[in-house]
Amino acid sequence: ASKNEDEYDFLFKIVLIGDSGVGKTNLLSRFTKNEFNMDSKPTIGVEFATKTVITENKYIKAQIWDTAGQEKYRAITNAYYRGAVGALTLYDITKQQTFDNVKKWLHELREYADANIICMLIGNKCDLQEMRQVKTEDAAKFAEENNLAFMETSAAQAINVDQAFQKLITEIYNNLK
Ligand code: GDP
Repeated sequence: ASKNEDEYDFLFKIVLIGDSGVGKTNLLSRFTKNEFNMDSKPTIGVEFATKTVITENKYIKAQIWDTAGQEKYRAITNAYYRGAVGALTLYDITKQQTFDNVKKWLHELREYADANIICMLIGNKCDLQEMRQVKTEDAAKFAEENNLAFMETSAAQAINVDQAFQKLITEIYNNLK
């Protein structure tokens, strides 16, 4: 069974957070358009992109918001988090600092987002194994302690990208029931 693009059972707003340069924009474009861009992104990015996925026979339209660089200026506003039911918190496995800052992002999420928001931890750029600074086991331990699902992804090589969004969306859906 297929549906028109505008027919869906649920609309989920999902936000991407994490330090500048971790790959938020590319994770989004890989998931929604199957595109990847090696260059740094333009200053002004899209606000959000959408993709409809099926989970447990329901059509879920994911409306995924990208910070469009606002995180550099600490200018992420309440509006960004408003109504969000899910969040992917990204770090770059080749930059320890971006992992250390995950705590800060989770804190911001607790402050601004709905208390029931479902959050998942994402270690992106897992194609760059030789440059790795964050051990998988350390991130997995941190995720477990903080009750977050965790996955390593590569937007560049399309590793685990669909799986990460699918997992988050399924978790959000199960939390509704
Ligand atoms: P954002 O600032 O978090 O939105 O990060 P971008 O999506 O703009 O990515 C920053 C840089 O990292 C760009 O040069 C991307 O091409 C690169 N990048 C993003 N994801 C990956 C990945 O999975 N692997 C590799 N090798 N590079 C990536």
